[in-house]
Amino acid sequence: MLLAPTAAVEDDMDQFTVRTHSGFEMIDITGAITSVLRKSGVKDGVCYVFVPHTTAAVTINENADPDVPRDILTELDKIVPLDDTYRHIEGNSAAHIKASLFGASEVVLVKGGSLVLGTWQSIFFCEFDGPRTRSVMVRFLPDAV
Ligand code: ZN
Repeated sequence: MLLAPTAAVEDDMDQFTVRTHSGFEMIDITGAITSVLRKSGVKDGVCYVFVPHTTAAVTINENADPDVPRDILTELDKIVPLDDTYRHIEGNSAAHIKASLFGASEVVLVKGGSLVLGTWQSIFFCEFDGPRTRSVMVRFLPDAV
């Protein structure tokens, strides 16, 4: 569940909350980021999306077939099994590794007040150790005029 953008962290950065509902989940946050973009008034420039978590990530992938994110999560579990000979005492090393594989940020171009994404692309928040309440930070850098 996505919550509406909240008060700006700083004057030039916004954030919104994502409530995840399972251990592993990919949530399309393109609409929430577009809402922040509209509020910013930026027409052309660059959008930075940053996830301030060590067991969650952000990625861009296909939005049309829900089996794509399902397959991504299923295959990730094979590459990085939940249980292995991990030493991290918290017991969530798999989530940390998955988060580093995907990364904490994405960059998307902004043109004409819209995010520049391919027809089938969406921006996904990736939960690897849920359910939790998470934050997504967004900053727009407008082109110099
Ligand atoms: Zn941990």
